[in-house]
Amino acid sequence: MSYLILNQVNKTFNRISVLKELDLEVNEGEMVTLLGPSGCGKSTLLRCISGLTGMDRGRIVLGGRDITGLAPKSRDVGMVFQSYALFPNMNVYDNIAFGLSIQKKSGPQIKAKVGEMLQLVDLEDKAKAYPHELSGGQQQRVSLARSLAVEPKLMLMDEPLSALDAKIRKHLRTELRQIQKRVGMTMLFVTHDQEEALTISDKVCLMNQGRIVQTGTPDEVYSRPRDEFAARFIGSYNVIAAEELMRLTRQPLASGIYYALRPEAVAVTPERAGTSERPTGAGEEGSSVTVTGVVLESVMLGNIIRYQIEADGVKLHADMLNASPVTKAHDGEPVRIEFELAACIPLEAGEV
Ligand code: ADP
Ligand code: MG
Repeated sequence: MSYLILNQVNKTFNRISVLKELDLEVNEGEMVTLLGPSGCGKSTLLRCISGLTGMDRGRIVLGGRDITGLAPKSRDVGMVFQSYALFPNMNVYDNIAFGLSIQKKSGPQIKAKVGEMLQLVDLEDKAKAYPHELSGGQQQRVSLARSLAVEPKLMLMDEPLSALDAKIRKHLRTELRQIQKRVGMTMLFVTHDQEEALTISDKVCLMNQGRIVQTGTPDEVYSRPRDEFAARFIGSYNVIAAEELMRLTRQPLASGIYYALRPEAVAVTPERAGTSERPTGAGEEGSSVTVTGVVLESVMLGNIIRYQIEADGVKLHADMLNASPVTKAHDGEPVRIEFELAACIPLEAGEV
Protein backbone atom coordinates (compact mmCIF):
# COMPACT_ATOMS: atom_id res chain seq x y z
CA MET A 1 0.00 0.00 0.00
CA SER A 2 1.23 3.50 -0.77
CA TYR A 3 2.61 5.62 2.05
CA LEU A 4 0.63 8.74 1.18
CA ILE A 5 -2.79 8.32 -0.42
CA LEU A 6 -5.01 11.19 -1.53
CA ASN A 7 -8.44 10.05 -2.50
CA GLN A 8 -10.96 12.21 -4.36
CA VAL A 9 -9.74 15.50 -2.92
CA ASN A 10 -12.02 18.45 -3.75
CA LYS A 11 -11.58 22.09 -2.81
CA THR A 12 -13.55 25.16 -3.84
CA PHE A 13 -12.93 28.83 -3.09
CA ASN A 14 -16.02 31.03 -3.43
CA ARG A 15 -17.75 28.22 -5.38
CA ILE A 16 -14.86 28.01 -7.83
CA SER A 17 -13.46 24.52 -8.01
CA VAL A 18 -9.68 24.59 -7.44
CA LEU A 19 -8.99 20.88 -6.80
CA LYS A 20 -11.16 18.41 -8.69
CA GLU A 21 -11.52 14.74 -7.65
CA LEU A 22 -7.80 14.59 -7.22
CA ASP A 23 -6.11 11.22 -6.56
CA LEU A 24 -2.42 10.83 -5.76
CA GLU A 25 -0.23 8.08 -4.32
CA VAL A 26 3.34 8.43 -3.06
CA ASN A 27 5.56 5.56 -1.90
CA GLU A 28 7.73 5.72 1.19
CA GLY A 29 11.09 7.39 0.57
CA GLU A 30 9.99 8.78 -2.78
CA MET A 31 10.58 12.27 -4.12
CA VAL A 32 7.46 13.28 -6.04
CA THR A 33 7.09 16.61 -7.81
CA LEU A 34 3.87 18.45 -8.52
CA LEU A 35 4.56 20.41 -11.69
CA GLY A 36 2.16 22.85 -13.24
CA PRO A 37 1.52 26.45 -14.23
CA SER A 38 0.77 29.18 -11.72
CA GLY A 39 -2.76 28.95 -10.36
CA CYS A 40 -3.31 25.23 -11.13
CA GLY A 41 -3.76 24.40 -7.42
CA LYS A 42 -0.32 23.16 -6.30
CA SER A 43 -0.07 25.25 -3.13
CA THR A 44 -3.69 24.59 -2.24
CA LEU A 45 -3.04 20.85 -2.49
CA LEU A 46 -0.02 21.05 -0.17
CA ARG A 47 -2.00 23.17 2.29
CA CYS A 48 -4.80 20.60 2.29
CA ILE A 49 -2.31 17.81 3.04
CA SER A 50 -0.72 19.81 5.88
CA GLY A 51 -4.14 20.73 7.27
CA LEU A 52 -3.59 24.49 6.92
CA THR A 53 -6.54 24.57 4.49
CA GLY A 54 -9.64 22.46 4.92
CA MET A 55 -10.92 20.31 2.04
CA ASP A 56 -14.53 20.16 0.86
CA ARG A 57 -14.37 16.44 0.26
CA GLY A 58 -11.77 13.69 0.11
CA ARG A 59 -9.54 11.54 2.24
CA ILE A 60 -5.85 11.65 3.14
CA VAL A 61 -4.00 8.62 4.52
CA LEU A 62 -0.37 8.89 5.66
CA GLY A 63 1.61 5.85 6.83
CA GLY A 64 -1.58 3.81 7.21
CA ARG A 65 -3.28 6.49 9.36
CA ASP A 66 -6.27 8.53 8.19
CA ILE A 67 -5.23 12.14 8.87
CA THR A 68 -8.16 13.79 7.06
CA GLY A 69 -9.73 15.40 10.12
CA LEU A 70 -6.59 15.98 12.19
CA ALA A 71 -5.17 19.35 13.26
CA PRO A 72 -1.97 20.39 11.38
CA LYS A 73 0.28 19.70 14.37
CA SER A 74 -1.01 16.14 14.77
CA ARG A 75 -0.36 15.14 11.16
CA ASP A 76 3.39 14.52 11.31
CA VAL A 77 3.91 16.61 8.18
CA GLY A 78 6.71 19.16 7.70
CA MET A 79 6.51 22.10 5.34
CA VAL A 80 9.08 24.38 3.70
CA PHE A 81 7.95 27.48 1.80
CA GLN A 82 9.46 29.79 -0.78
CA SER A 83 9.99 32.42 1.92
CA TYR A 84 12.27 30.92 4.54
CA ALA A 85 10.21 32.18 7.50
CA LEU A 86 13.08 31.79 9.98
CA PHE A 87 12.85 33.46 13.38
CA PRO A 88 14.93 36.62 12.84
CA ASN A 89 15.79 37.04 16.52
CA MET A 90 17.13 33.49 16.89
CA ASN A 91 20.44 32.17 15.61
CA VAL A 92 20.74 29.16 13.31
CA TYR A 93 21.13 26.71 16.19
CA ASP A 94 18.01 27.95 17.99
CA ASN A 95 15.99 28.05 14.79
CA ILE A 96 16.75 24.38 14.17
CA ALA A 97 16.21 23.48 17.85
CA PHE A 98 12.83 25.21 18.00
CA GLY A 99 10.59 22.31 16.98
CA LEU A 100 12.55 19.91 19.17
CA SER A 101 11.96 22.01 22.30
CA ILE A 102 8.24 22.16 21.44
CA GLN A 103 8.40 18.35 21.36
CA LYS A 104 9.94 18.57 24.86
CA LYS A 105 13.10 16.72 23.89
CA SER A 106 15.90 16.68 26.50
CA GLY A 107 18.90 19.06 26.30
CA PRO A 108 21.37 16.38 25.15
CA GLN A 109 18.86 15.02 22.59
CA ILE A 110 18.37 18.50 21.12
CA LYS A 111 22.11 19.14 20.99
CA ALA A 112 22.77 15.86 19.19
CA LYS A 113 19.97 16.35 16.68
CA VAL A 114 20.84 19.97 15.86
CA GLY A 115 24.47 18.91 15.38
CA GLU A 116 23.39 16.17 13.00
CA MET A 117 21.17 18.59 11.02
CA LEU A 118 23.89 21.25 10.78
CA GLN A 119 26.20 18.61 9.34
CA LEU A 120 23.52 17.39 6.93
CA VAL A 121 22.97 20.84 5.41
CA ASP A 122 26.68 21.72 5.67
CA LEU A 123 26.29 24.73 7.98
CA GLU A 124 28.27 23.58 11.02
CA ASP A 125 30.28 26.82 11.02
CA LYS A 126 27.11 28.98 10.99
CA ALA A 127 25.42 27.73 14.17
CA LYS A 128 25.81 31.09 15.91
CA ALA A 129 24.87 33.24 12.89
CA TYR A 130 21.55 35.09 12.65
CA PRO A 131 19.32 34.78 9.56
CA HIS A 132 20.21 38.27 8.28
CA GLU A 133 23.87 37.24 8.23
CA LEU A 134 23.17 34.37 5.81
CA SER A 135 22.67 34.20 2.03
CA GLY A 136 19.29 33.16 0.64
CA GLY A 137 20.61 29.67 -0.12
CA GLN A 138 21.95 29.27 3.43
CA GLN A 139 18.67 30.47 4.93
CA GLN A 140 16.77 27.93 2.89
CA ARG A 141 19.12 25.19 4.13
CA VAL A 142 18.40 26.23 7.73
CA SER A 143 14.71 26.13 6.93
CA LEU A 144 15.10 22.59 5.57
CA ALA A 145 17.15 21.52 8.62
CA ARG A 146 14.51 22.96 10.96
CA SER A 147 11.77 20.96 9.25
CA LEU A 148 13.81 17.75 9.03
CA ALA A 149 14.91 17.91 12.70
CA VAL A 150 11.51 16.84 14.00
CA GLU A 151 11.54 13.84 11.62
CA PRO A 152 8.18 14.31 9.94
CA LYS A 153 6.66 11.36 8.08
CA LEU A 154 6.24 13.55 5.02
CA MET A 155 7.95 16.72 3.87
CA LEU A 156 6.03 19.21 1.75
CA MET A 157 8.04 21.81 -0.15
CA ASP A 158 6.30 24.69 -1.89
CA GLU A 159 8.63 26.18 -4.53
CA PRO A 160 11.45 26.27 -1.96
CA LEU A 161 14.08 27.34 -4.51
CA SER A 162 12.12 29.95 -6.49
CA ALA A 163 13.43 32.96 -4.58
CA LEU A 164 17.06 32.05 -5.21
CA ASP A 165 19.16 33.05 -8.20
CA ALA A 166 19.69 30.50 -10.98
CA LYS A 167 23.14 29.25 -10.02
CA ILE A 168 22.36 28.70 -6.32
CA ARG A 169 19.02 27.18 -7.27
CA LYS A 170 20.68 24.49 -9.41
CA HIS A 171 23.28 23.76 -6.76
CA LEU A 172 20.74 23.56 -3.95
CA ARG A 173 18.36 21.29 -5.85
CA THR A 174 21.16 18.75 -6.27
CA GLU A 175 21.96 19.01 -2.56
CA LEU A 176 18.31 18.70 -1.64
CA ARG A 177 17.97 15.54 -3.70
CA GLN A 178 21.08 14.05 -2.06
CA ILE A 179 19.78 14.86 1.42
CA GLN A 180 16.36 13.42 0.60
CA LYS A 181 17.96 10.16 -0.58
CA ARG A 182 20.35 9.93 2.36
CA VAL A 183 17.59 10.45 4.94
CA GLY A 184 15.07 8.36 2.97
CA MET A 185 12.56 11.20 3.38
CA THR A 186 9.22 11.01 1.60
CA MET A 187 8.88 14.34 -0.15
CA LEU A 188 6.23 16.14 -2.15
CA PHE A 189 7.89 19.02 -3.97
CA VAL A 190 6.05 21.77 -5.83
CA THR A 191 7.48 23.69 -8.76
CA HIS A 192 6.40 25.42 -11.95
CA ASP A 193 9.87 24.85 -13.44
CA GLN A 194 9.97 21.78 -15.70
CA GLU A 195 13.75 21.44 -15.66
CA GLU A 196 13.72 21.45 -11.86
CA ALA A 197 11.01 18.78 -11.78
CA LEU A 198 12.76 16.56 -14.32
CA THR A 199 16.14 16.68 -12.60
CA ILE A 200 15.20 15.93 -8.97
CA SER A 201 12.20 13.61 -9.00
CA ASP A 202 11.50 9.91 -8.81
CA LYS A 203 8.05 10.70 -10.14
CA VAL A 204 6.52 13.81 -11.72
CA CYS A 205 2.80 14.63 -11.44
CA LEU A 206 1.81 17.13 -14.07
CA MET A 207 -1.05 19.35 -12.86
CA ASN A 208 -3.47 21.50 -14.83
CA GLN A 209 -6.59 23.30 -13.63
CA GLY A 210 -6.99 21.39 -10.38
CA ARG A 211 -6.31 17.93 -11.78
CA ILE A 212 -3.30 15.68 -12.16
CA VAL A 213 -3.15 15.09 -15.91
CA GLN A 214 -0.16 12.78 -16.09
CA THR A 215 2.08 10.90 -13.65
CA GLY A 216 5.30 9.08 -14.44
CA THR A 217 9.06 9.02 -14.17
CA PRO A 218 10.72 12.18 -15.52
CA ASP A 219 11.62 10.30 -18.70
CA GLU A 220 8.10 8.94 -19.19
CA VAL A 221 6.50 12.33 -18.74
CA TYR A 222 9.01 14.03 -21.01
CA SER A 223 9.10 11.37 -23.72
CA ARG A 224 5.43 10.41 -23.83
CA PRO A 225 3.27 13.49 -23.19
CA ARG A 226 -0.32 12.37 -22.85
CA ASP A 227 -2.18 15.39 -24.17
CA GLU A 228 -1.65 18.79 -25.71
CA PHE A 229 -1.23 20.50 -22.35
CA ALA A 230 1.53 18.05 -21.32
CA ALA A 231 3.26 18.36 -24.69
CA ARG A 232 3.33 22.14 -24.61
CA PHE A 233 4.16 22.44 -20.91
CA ILE A 234 6.88 19.89 -20.48
CA GLY A 235 8.84 19.71 -23.70
CA SER A 236 7.95 22.73 -25.81
CA TYR A 237 6.83 20.11 -28.31
CA ASN A 238 5.49 20.99 -31.73
CA VAL A 239 1.78 20.22 -31.61
CA ILE A 240 0.62 19.38 -35.13
CA ALA A 241 -2.87 18.61 -36.38
CA ALA A 242 -3.15 15.20 -38.09
CA GLU A 243 -4.17 16.86 -41.37
CA GLU A 244 -0.99 18.96 -41.36
CA LEU A 245 1.20 16.02 -40.46
CA MET A 246 -0.32 13.97 -43.28
CA ARG A 247 0.55 16.79 -45.68
CA LEU A 248 4.18 16.71 -44.50
CA THR A 249 4.64 12.96 -44.31
CA ARG A 250 2.29 11.81 -47.09
CA GLN A 251 1.40 8.96 -44.76
CA PRO A 252 -2.12 7.94 -43.76
CA LEU A 253 -2.65 8.86 -40.08
CA ALA A 254 -5.55 8.82 -37.63
CA SER A 255 -7.31 12.10 -38.42
CA GLY A 256 -9.02 14.55 -36.09
CA ILE A 257 -6.29 14.36 -33.45
CA TYR A 258 -3.03 16.13 -32.70
CA TYR A 259 0.52 14.82 -32.72
CA ALA A 260 3.52 15.97 -30.68
CA LEU A 261 6.99 16.21 -32.17
CA ARG A 262 10.01 17.32 -30.14
CA PRO A 263 12.02 20.22 -31.57
CA GLU A 264 15.23 18.24 -31.06
CA ALA A 265 13.80 15.36 -33.13
CA VAL A 266 13.66 17.58 -36.22
CA ALA A 267 16.96 17.92 -38.11
CA VAL A 268 17.54 21.04 -40.22
CA THR A 269 20.13 21.16 -43.01
CA PRO A 270 20.63 24.11 -45.39
CA GLU A 271 19.99 23.15 -49.03
CA ARG A 272 23.42 24.59 -49.92
CA ALA A 273 25.05 21.90 -47.74
CA GLY A 274 24.24 19.30 -50.43
CA THR A 275 22.41 16.01 -50.05
CA SER A 276 22.22 14.06 -46.84
CA GLU A 277 25.21 11.89 -46.07
CA ARG A 278 22.97 9.31 -44.50
CA PRO A 279 23.51 6.05 -46.37
CA THR A 280 20.46 5.19 -48.43
CA GLY A 281 18.48 2.27 -47.14
CA ALA A 282 19.17 3.11 -43.49
CA GLY A 283 16.05 2.48 -41.49
CA GLU A 284 12.85 0.98 -42.80
CA GLU A 285 11.07 2.21 -45.84
CA GLY A 286 8.98 5.25 -44.95
CA SER A 287 10.19 5.47 -41.34
CA SER A 288 11.98 8.75 -41.91
CA VAL A 289 10.43 11.88 -43.44
CA THR A 290 12.38 14.44 -45.47
CA VAL A 291 10.76 17.63 -46.77
CA THR A 292 11.97 20.99 -47.92
CA GLY A 293 11.05 24.22 -46.19
CA VAL A 294 12.29 27.67 -45.37
CA VAL A 295 13.65 29.25 -42.16
CA LEU A 296 11.22 31.86 -40.85
CA GLU A 297 13.29 32.73 -37.84
CA SER A 298 16.27 31.46 -35.88
CA VAL A 299 17.16 32.22 -32.27
CA MET A 300 20.57 31.48 -30.84
CA LEU A 301 20.21 30.03 -27.33
CA GLY A 302 23.94 29.40 -26.81
CA ASN A 303 24.69 25.78 -27.53
CA ILE A 304 21.35 25.37 -29.32
CA ILE A 305 19.82 27.18 -32.28
CA ARG A 306 16.02 27.18 -32.30
CA TYR A 307 14.60 27.46 -35.80
CA GLN A 308 11.10 28.22 -36.85
CA ILE A 309 10.59 26.49 -40.17
CA GLU A 310 7.71 26.50 -42.61
CA ALA A 311 7.22 23.48 -44.86
CA ASP A 312 4.11 22.69 -46.91
CA GLY A 313 2.30 25.48 -45.02
CA VAL A 314 3.11 23.85 -41.64
CA LYS A 315 5.14 25.73 -39.03
CA LEU A 316 7.59 23.72 -36.94
CA HIS A 317 10.20 24.41 -34.28
CA ALA A 318 13.50 22.61 -34.61
CA ASP A 319 16.44 22.65 -32.19
CA MET A 320 19.90 22.03 -33.58
CA LEU A 321 23.24 21.99 -31.81
CA ASN A 322 25.16 25.15 -32.60
CA ALA A 323 28.12 23.08 -33.76
CA SER A 324 29.43 24.59 -36.98
CA PRO A 325 28.87 27.63 -39.23
CA VAL A 326 28.64 25.26 -42.21
CA THR A 327 25.49 23.54 -40.97
CA LYS A 328 23.90 26.74 -39.62
CA ALA A 329 20.87 27.93 -41.62
CA HIS A 330 20.01 31.59 -42.00
CA ASP A 331 16.66 33.36 -41.87
CA GLY A 332 14.90 33.04 -45.22
CA GLU A 333 17.16 30.22 -46.37
CA PRO A 334 15.77 27.05 -48.00
CA VAL A 335 16.39 23.98 -45.84
CA ARG A 336 15.77 20.28 -45.71
CA ILE A 337 14.01 19.02 -42.60
CA GLU A 338 14.04 15.43 -41.52
CA PHE A 339 12.39 13.48 -38.72
CA GLU A 340 11.38 9.93 -37.84
CA LEU A 341 7.72 9.11 -38.20
CA ALA A 342 8.03 7.21 -34.90
CA ALA A 343 8.91 10.50 -33.17
CA CYS A 344 5.38 11.79 -33.81
CA ILE A 345 3.35 11.00 -30.68
CA PRO A 346 -0.45 10.86 -30.98
CA LEU A 347 -2.09 12.96 -28.23
CA GLU A 348 -5.29 12.41 -26.30
CA ALA A 349 -7.82 15.21 -26.27
CA GLY A 350 -7.63 17.21 -23.04
CA GLU A 351 -8.07 20.65 -21.45
CA VAL A 352 -5.34 23.05 -22.58
P1 ADP B 1 -0.49 27.42 -7.53
O1 ADP B 1 0.20 27.17 -6.22
O2 ADP B 1 -0.50 26.22 -8.43
O3 ADP B 1 0.03 28.61 -8.22
P2 ADP B 1 -2.80 27.97 -5.85
O4 ADP B 1 -3.07 26.68 -5.18
O5 ADP B 1 -2.10 29.02 -5.07
O6 ADP B 1 -2.04 27.70 -7.24
O7 ADP B 1 -4.17 28.58 -6.37
C1 ADP B 1 -5.11 27.86 -7.12
C2 ADP B 1 -6.33 28.72 -7.36
O8 ADP B 1 -7.02 28.94 -6.13
C3 ADP B 1 -6.02 30.09 -7.92
O9 ADP B 1 -7.00 30.42 -8.86
C4 ADP B 1 -6.09 30.98 -6.71
O10 ADP B 1 -6.46 32.27 -7.06
C5 ADP B 1 -7.16 30.32 -5.86
N1 ADP B 1 -6.97 30.53 -4.41
C6 ADP B 1 -5.90 30.08 -3.68
N2 ADP B 1 -6.04 30.40 -2.39
C7 ADP B 1 -7.20 31.09 -2.27
C8 ADP B 1 -7.91 31.71 -1.18
N3 ADP B 1 -7.43 31.65 0.07
N4 ADP B 1 -9.09 32.31 -1.47
C9 ADP B 1 -9.59 32.34 -2.72
N5 ADP B 1 -8.98 31.80 -3.79
C10 ADP B 1 -7.81 31.17 -3.59
MG1 MG C 1 1.81 28.21 -5.34
